[in-house]
Amino acid sequence: MTLPIGPEDVLAAAARLDGVAHRTPVMTSRTADERTGAQLFFKCENLQRVGAFKFRGAYSALSRFTPAQRKGGVIAYSSGNHGQAIAVSARLLGMPVAIVMPQDAPPIKIAATRGYGAEVILYDRYTENREAIGQRIATERGMTLIPPYNHVDVIAGQGTAALELIEEAGALDALVVCVGGGGLIGGCATITKHLLPECRVIGVEPAAGNDMQRSLAEGRIIHIDVPDTIADGAQTQHAGELTFPILQALVERIVTVTDPQLVAAMRFFFERMKIVVEPTGCLGAAALFERAIDLRGKRVGVILSGGNVDAERFASLLSMAPRAD
Ligand SMILES: *Cc1c(COP(=O)(O)O)cnc(C)c1O
Repeated sequence: MTLPIGPEDVLAAAARLDGVAHRTPVMTSRTADERTGAQLFFKCENLQRVGAFKFRGAYSALSRFTPAQRKGGVIAYSSGNHGQAIAVSARLLGMPVAIVMPQDAPPIKIAATRGYGAEVILYDRYTENREAIGQRIATERGMTLIPPYNHVDVIAGQGTAALELIEEAGALDALVVCVGGGGLIGGCATITKHLLPECRVIGVEPAAGNDMQRSLAEGRIIHIDVPDTIADGAQTQHAGELTFPILQALVERIVTVTDPQLVAAMRFFFERMKIVVEPTGCLGAAALFERAIDLRGKRVGVILSGGNVDAERFASLLSMAPRAD
C-alpha cells in the first residue's frame, strides 16, 4: 500500500527547514535512565521556535505555497501551538494570517499568537465546529487552510524532529512519541522506519482521550468528545484520514497515561533537567517513567513535543503533585 507520505518527503521538508527551524538539543539524564532501566535520548522540541515542534510542519507547508496562495494568505484552527507556528511562519514568509482558536485556550497562547501579528478568531469548542468555521472563512477570504495534522507537508515537516534525533543519537531500538491527531508520530515513524527498520515506534495518548488507541484496535477512525485532560495539545477528537493509515502501517502500539502521571513527569523535567515541558509534551516520558512501556536495556528516543505552559498553570499543576522522590 502507498502511504500518504514517504521518507523522501521528510528529507525534502528538512531541506526547506534548514537554517529556519532550530536544530533542538538532544538531552540525556542519568536519573531518568536509572528510573526506566533504558538509555533515553530526549529530543527537546520544547526549545523549538514558538516552543513546540509544530513550527516544523507549519513552515514546511507554508514554504510550498504558490505565489497566488501567498498573496491570499493562510488560515488555521488550533488549540494553540499550531496557531502560533502558522502565525510565525506566515510572518517569516510575508503573508496574511488568521487563526481560529478556542475561547478557553491558555491565555499565553492566545496572546502570543496575536503578538506574532495574526488575526485571532475565537470560538466555543464545546458547541462550535472549528473545521467548519475555518473552512467558511477560508472560502470567503481566499485564504488557504492548513490543518494541524491532516496535511502531507505538515506531517513531513514534523518528521524532521525524528530525523535530527537519529542523526544525533545514532541507532535507536525504540522511539516514543506523543499522539494527538497523529501528525508528529506519522512523520517521525515514516523517517524512522526508513532509516532504522527495526526501531519500534510507540505512541502515547492521554488516558482520557485514547481515540487513536481505539481506532487502531478497531481498524477505523473513531470520533470522541473533547477529552478532559491537561494535555491540551492532545485533545483531538479523531485521527486524520492521512495520518491514520501511516499509523496503521508503522506504529507498533499506543499506550496511555493519566494526568497525574503527566504532572509527575513535568516536575521531573523541571527539578532534574531544568527544562519546562508542557503537559502534552510529557506524554512519552511519562509512559516510560510509569513503565507503561518496558524498554529496559534499550536505546530509546523520546520526543518532548513542547514547552508552552503559563507560569501560573505550571506552578499550580506542580503544587498538586507529590515530589519525584
Ligand atoms: C500538537 C501537539 C501534539 C500532538 O501532535 P499531533 O501531530 O496532533 O499528534 C503533541 N504535543 C504538543 C506540544 C503539541 O502541540
